[in-house]
Amino acid sequence: MSKADYYQALGVERGVSDVDLKKAYRKLAMKYHPDKNPDDKAAEQKFKELSEAYHVLSDKEKRAAYDQFGHAAFEAGSGAGAQGFDFDFRSGFADVFDDLFGEFMGGGRRGGGQRTHSRGADLRYNLDINLEDAFSGKQARVKVPSVIVCDSCSGSGARSGTNPTNCGTCSGHGKVRAQQGFFTIERTCPTCQGSGEVITDPCSNCRGSGRSQKEKTLSVNIPSGVEDGTRIRLAGEGEAGARGAPSGDLYIFLSISPHHIFERDGRNIHCKVPIPMVRASLGGNVEVPTLGGGRARLNIPAGTQPGQKFRLRGKGMTSLNNSSKGDMYVHVNVETPVNLTKKQKELLDEFDKSSKSGHSPESEGFFSKVRDIWEDLKD
Ligand SMILES: [Zn+2]
Ligand SMILES: [Zn+2]
Repeated sequence: MSKADYYQALGVERGVSDVDLKKAYRKLAMKYHPDKNPDDKAAEQKFKELSEAYHVLSDKEKRAAYDQFGHAAFEAGSGAGAQGFDFDFRSGFADVFDDLFGEFMGGGRRGGGQRTHSRGADLRYNLDINLEDAFSGKQARVKVPSVIVCDSCSGSGARSGTNPTNCGTCSGHGKVRAQQGFFTIERTCPTCQGSGEVITDPCSNCRGSGRSQKEKTLSVNIPSGVEDGTRIRLAGEGEAGARGAPSGDLYIFLSISPHHIFERDGRNIHCKVPIPMVRASLGGNVEVPTLGGGRARLNIPAGTQPGQKFRLRGKGMTSLNNSSKGDMYVHVNVETPVNLTKKQKELLDEFDKSSKSGHSPESEGFFSKVRDIWEDLKD
């Protein structure tokens, strides 16, 4: 069963603003919400569709992926390692859900629907590979930014060798009391923001935050035979979630740069090979390059013409689904010799004089037709 277009599901146009998108979702979600339509399977289904559509379109990265690839962006794709897009029914839209129903449920939470901290954002990484890599497959290393505990201060935020000191304002309690009229009001200490400690000598590496941004290097397996636009998902390698929430995923989008000699057509490879006129005329062996740095011997028959193509079986790309191989097609380009010596010109002249009809059937046929036209015009 094909899935409905996400934009259609929400009744919005492509390019809709975030505000209008949220409005459209709110309206429809209110209408189809399961609490309002008990035991209505159709409404429940519709509600799930709406939520999924909103979940994707409200996320910049996911929306961009959807605009480019449609549902295929979130389906088990052709890329090995690419898995289906898991839509978590509850946590995925917890934010909107809360502000949507918090008020009209009287501030209470839906049964069982606990507030979930937002999952880390999904990250997209564009990786350019060349055709040779796509042909042989490779283990690529990608560097992605990630937030880690600062290793200079082990997360304390204080310069190495020093320790945070007790906050003088609150004497380490984290709270201060203030007299207001008859009442004593306790509030969070403004100096230490409640931690009870102050850093007098902050760590220079993380400027006292205790966390630092660092590139982490990941190894990505690029299977042989990948297509341009293949998406590889690395689960849990996206941005870290807030306060212990699960991390997002990292999506590697592959684009294959064009090759200067080979042209890809699915599993098959095309290659234009220039062949000297004499070789084309007499026939013989020609050595041609193959993908992966190899070479193959191609036997061309005498009288080979420009544009003629020859197939080299099994010299194309590997198929991703099974290990069968495509073919390579050599397109012959016959090259007319240039910079001839006097002797060579004489030889060709001699060749021409010795030629009777039948050596160049195509041009003879062509010019005999042209002659007929000229004759006809004379009358
Ligand atoms: Zn304090
Ligand atoms: Zn630090």
